[in-house]
Amino acid sequence: MLEINKFDRIIVANWKLNGSIHFIEQYLQELNCSKLENSNNCGIICTPSVYFHKLVGRLNPLFLGGQDCSNYSEGAYTGEVSATMLKDASCQFCIIGHSERRQIFGQSNEDVCIKAMNLIANNINPIICIGETFEEKNQNLTKDIIYTQISKSVPKNATKDFVIIAYEPIWAIGTGKIPSLEEIDNIHSFIKNEIQNIENYKILYGGSVNSNNASEIMDLKNVDGVLVGGASLDALEYKKIMNS
Ligand code: PEP
Repeated sequence: MLEINKFDRIIVANWKLNGSIHFIEQYLQELNCSKLENSNNCGIICTPSVYFHKLVGRLNPLFLGGQDCSNYSEGAYTGEVSATMLKDASCQFCIIGHSERRQIFGQSNEDVCIKAMNLIANNINPIICIGETFEEKNQNLTKDIIYTQISKSVPKNATKDFVIIAYEPIWAIGTGKIPSLEEIDNIHSFIKNEIQNIENYKILYGGSVNSNNASEIMDLKNVDGVLVGGASLDALEYKKIMNS
């Protein structure tokens, strides 16, 4: 598994259910990986797993990531992709617990914990997503929700050396709305300093990040990088965020 402490910033692209072979060829040309400026930043491109083979060996110095993995290792689970298969296909990171998987596909904190254990067992770095809904934020429940999500979905054998946490307020994903910089730093500080066994984990912010706001968000003391959805589908936009 990759030691993540050596990186200054971690910048994850989440393509979600987007892409095609044609798209990938154009993306790689525009991204021009060899011209990325800051080698201390860790760039991770999370694509649909059917396209991994089109990216393997062509992303260096960036890494390949998945968007979910099965709770199961093998067997009669039609449509699933196991952590072992992700590893076999050269995937080094994997997003788990994304709010779209939690809300649309009913994944629980307990599911996310099993997935994280499967990934760790296969030497894949988990990127565990957490975050509150707008209603929860309005009821001042953000810290309670996050505390519960982290306590239940981060496995006991996780360490800050190889597990990443992404704080993604659900109301900020794909909406163009983001919390104030102060709010982001405050929540990240809470996660880093006030949750037992999670001290000093790398914490990414996700939710409507683009090349205009990435740098001020990443400059915050308690932010270690960003998870980018929509904007990461534009290679030049992702490159600007990587270089910001
Ligand atoms: C995401 O997919 O996790 C995300 C943060 O999306 P967006 O950047 O489009 O808000």
